[in-house]
Amino acid sequence: MRKLSSDRMSELFERLDSLCPLYLPGEKDGAVSFVRYEQGVDYAVGALNTVRSAKDFFFPQVENIAAFRMTGKKIEILENQNGNEPFVVFGVRACDAASFSLLDQVFLSEPVDPYYRDRREAGTVITVACGEPDTSCFCTAFGIDPAEPKGDISVWLTDGFLYWQPRTDKGENLTENLTDILEECDGGEIKSYQDTIKTIANQLPLANLNLSYWENTDEKEIFASPVWDEIYKGCLGCGLCTFVCPTCQCYDVRDFDCGETVRKFRCWDSCMYSDFTRMAHGNPRKTQKERFRQRFMHKLKYFPENNGGLVSCVGCGRCVRSCPQGLNIVKTARRVSDD
Ligand code: SF4
Ligand code: SF4
Repeated sequence: MRKLSSDRMSELFERLDSLCPLYLPGEKDGAVSFVRYEQGVDYAVGALNTVRSAKDFFFPQVENIAAFRMTGKKIEILENQNGNEPFVVFGVRACDAASFSLLDQVFLSEPVDPYYRDRREAGTVITVACGEPDTSCFCTAFGIDPAEPKGDISVWLTDGFLYWQPRTDKGENLTENLTDILEECDGGEIKSYQDTIKTIANQLPLANLNLSYWENTDEKEIFASPVWDEIYKGCLGCGLCTFVCPTCQCYDVRDFDCGETVRKFRCWDSCMYSDFTRMAHGNPRKTQKERFRQRFMHKLKYFPENNGGLVSCVGCGRCVRSCPQGLNIVKTARRVSDD
């Protein structure tokens, strides 16, 4: 493990950004988002979670995936990938870091998604332990430890010091370039800091979310529960919960006619939208109740059944904080299981 005095953090950011583009949480228009580092941009050290998650770096909201040029009857395919430019993301929280495992399961399984894969290879993720988890957080319900975040490098920000632990080859390689400013230490200093985080996290109001009903009950029974007839009411179908969610990964692929060329792009989609997965014969889920049920059946039942028990939620609390109608995965999971 290595450490650096906290008052030298801007020096660390300068150095990282000189190696490759650095992104970190910064305040913009009153909200905290990941921003490109530059002089004058302050790291939002006190902010817990960005409004949108770190998935944007690997699965952006909109991306060009190909372009075609048409000359008479000849069609030429143009590649549109951005390539593999290395970049660093600093300040990813344990929940968002855990979401990458879920996204990897989807995008890196055969057939591999090359756009996602290239970004995952190019990006180095530096996670930061959550000094003060929020009341809307419940990552511990999924076995995630906010005091021991995964990533290429893990960082702990205590009073006075930044502690730095590389965890992967990518993390070690980056650290090699910083040995003159990061001094070696044994890491014993962060133990009590980690214990405090764990104590707070385990006492949070949503931390005791119990999903045993969902694990042990047949999906047809859950699907047919009369509770769905009630709990979807109020859902506006705005899709906000899906857009802020680090584990949602549905997208649409569309063409845009630019005149001489046609661009094929993909953009996030939402199972909460009335035109989601609409096909020639119509929409398979015609009511908001069906769409609402699909979102939670997928996260809590279908995805785990197809991915070795992995629930498609990391307890980041964004849907708890964002839904204009006060609906969220915790309320839904509890109401359906009558917990
Ligand atoms: S659950 Fe809330 S955030 Fe999600 S679509 Fe419905 S109203 Fe919007
Ligand atoms: S469902 Fe809600 S709490 Fe779970 S990962 Fe998505 S936004 Fe976060």
